[in-house]
Amino acid sequence: MSSSRKRNKEAKKNYDQKYRREHRARYWATNSIFKHKQSGFDVEISVDFLEDLYNKTEFCQICGTKLEKESSKRKDYGNTPTLDRIDNEKVIKEDNCWIVCHSCNTMKGSHPMNQFLEKIGKIIERFK
Ligand SMILES: [Zn+2]
Repeated sequence: MSSSRKRNKEAKKNYDQKYRREHRARYWATNSIFKHKQSGFDVEISVDFLEDLYNKTEFCQICGTKLEKESSKRKDYGNTPTLDRIDNEKVIKEDNCWIVCHSCNTMKGSHPMNQFLEKIGKIIERFK
């Protein structure tokens, strides 16, 4: 590759990273909605709404951990923000979604919140 092409490629990479950093919320919201639709969920929220919710949410709405919005390091992965339905029986709409950390979302899975809490209670009892 010629050095100028290499420079162009490097410049594009830097530009992409800068764009992603500056538009992190937009990027995350667009991607989250896209992925949920792709997985077959009914999504009745807009990118604008979710972008706003992302900007307003500092902590996981289940465990209270500070959400790791900037890092892409593997060790921070569990604390990255994810879109979740509050009530898994209902569609994704404005009054039925929150942002929780990746760990909580994975653990909760498709359980309704009360079942999830019951399960955690049992685990805590067993390992006390
Ligand atoms: Zn959490």
